[in-house]
Amino acid sequence: MDDPLIESTLKALKRNNFNAYFVQTAQEAGQLFFEQILPELEAKTFSWGDSMTMKATGILEVLEKDPEKILIRPFAPEYSQTQKIYWRKQALLCDLFLTGSNAVTQKGQLVNLDMIGNRIGGINFGPGNVVIFVGTNKIVPDLEAAMQRVRTIAAPRNAARHEGFRTPCIKTGSCMDCQSPDRICNSWLITEKSYPKGRISVVLINQELGL
Ligand code: SF4
Repeated sequence: MDDPLIESTLKALKRNNFNAYFVQTAQEAGQLFFEQILPELEAKTFSWGDSMTMKATGILEVLEKDPEKILIRPFAPEYSQTQKIYWRKQALLCDLFLTGSNAVTQKGQLVNLDMIGNRIGGINFGPGNVVIFVGTNKIVPDLEAAMQRVRTIAAPRNAARHEGFRTPCIKTGSCMDCQSPDRICNSWLITEKSYPKGRISVVLINQELGL
């Protein structure tokens, strides 16, 4: 490791009781997951919160094909909205929840902003373990910078990828603190430490990933 920013962030995450890992690519993150993280957990049921970075690892495709693993699919396109909400609630009872993070601070905190709450719900409580995949482009100095990053960069870009949504940021590219019924910015979660120790693993990936 020759990047002091990444090194100090990994140390801070470990100090905050997260399991912290560092890999070079999303593909390596997938390998790390199956070779090192998963064998240490007794997980049979899996689910996830929406994350482009986590999806880039290819883990979901592998889990889906394994007959010994039960994958709760909260985003299946064939589901109605009612069915999606039902399965998103069931996802909070899974053994292992996979997702990303909107930002990670150099002090080892995770910062996330959610529309419905299923993603931050899974990070916060319910699943036995959580594995979070995050590109090093999302490392920021502190909570203030994290919230600024999420408001000005991640949220407007995230709104734009939701088909049919009509928020002002989709047109302007920046947050207008809208009153839109499609507003995706509703609940913040700041995870200062993993409780219990080691419940949450963070895999830092040395790539620009996600929003
Ligand atoms: S609050 Fe509204 S305008 Fe601002 S980023 Fe979220 S959805 Fe877009």
